[in-house]
Amino acid sequence: MINFEYMRVSTVKAAVDALRKYPDSAVIAGGTNLVDLMKKGVTSPGRLVDITNLPLKEIIDEGTGLRIGALVANSDLADDASVQAAYPLLSQALKAGASAQLRNMATVGGNLLQRTRCGYFYDVAMPCNKRKPGSGCGALQGYNRMHAIFGGSSNCIAVHPSDMCVALAALDAQVLVSGPAGDRKIAFTDFHRLPGATPEKDNNLNKNELITGVYIPANQFGHRVHYLKVRDRASYAFALVSVAAALNIRDGRIVTARLAMGGVAHKPWRLFEAEKNLTGKTPSIPVFEQAAQIAMKGAKGYGANNFKLKLAPAALTEALTRASGISA
Ligand code: SF4
Repeated sequence: MINFEYMRVSTVKAAVDALRKYPDSAVIAGGTNLVDLMKKGVTSPGRLVDITNLPLKEIIDEGTGLRIGALVANSDLADDASVQAAYPLLSQALKAGASAQLRNMATVGGNLLQRTRCGYFYDVAMPCNKRKPGSGCGALQGYNRMHAIFGGSSNCIAVHPSDMCVALAALDAQVLVSGPAGDRKIAFTDFHRLPGATPEKDNNLNKNELITGVYIPANQFGHRVHYLKVRDRASYAFALVSVAAALNIRDGRIVTARLAMGGVAHKPWRLFEAEKNLTGKTPSIPVFEQAAQIAMKGAKGYGANNFKLKLAPAALTEALTRASGISA
């Protein structure tokens, strides 16, 4: 049995102070990933800081955007009336993730911090640079069907598992954090990291910082959005490839496009060049296919995941077609 201390805090300051005072502590809220990691021996914090009593459970429509507390449950966020009306891409992505039971427990902050589902990461008998830096990467030459085609390194080719984060990356969200140096905002696309030489670091949170919420600026996409998730089962499976697509179409032309992919990189993979290519064009399948080809620049397979090189552009074209409302 692995022993650990447990404490519950009721203010953000107390949480940050606890993280500073107990360097081997971990924050727990819904626990839907952390408890698994502890049971499998992937991580063994000396203390759990329970933040479920913090006042971070509100969804506030500020007119210029939506402020979402870090402790809002994924299911509550997906069903929220203002989210469904003004940010339907987020609702679609949330409902594509996990199971209903997990969505009831999982929080927004925890969703951002969930760790890769690479099998080698969870099997402590196998090499994994993310779990144990310097031990090697089992997936590079091993079973890598679920792994990255963008942004991988010779140290790690894991993918970020979240659906919600793909939609938030496409919607230009910001991550709100609080730490010893005060509060700050991190652009969502800068929050998660590529593996590089330090795959053990998933994100750019500073030491002892706590996620307090997420902010999404208002947008003009309305319901011209689509979250497409391609997976092995109809439900409760991680994405092989997913696409968050949002289009603002006026007078028959694309004014603004937002595109991000999941299941393809160590972070939600925003496709800025493809978005630029779409701007000003009349929506059509050839236009979407061209954008998808641009999006695939730099993609690389590692053997068992080579099929993603064909699946990803097809998924991009399909998601854009559905978002645009043109008939396929
Ligand atoms: Fe570990 Fe990353 Fe390699 Fe998976 S891909 S075994 S998480 S280093």
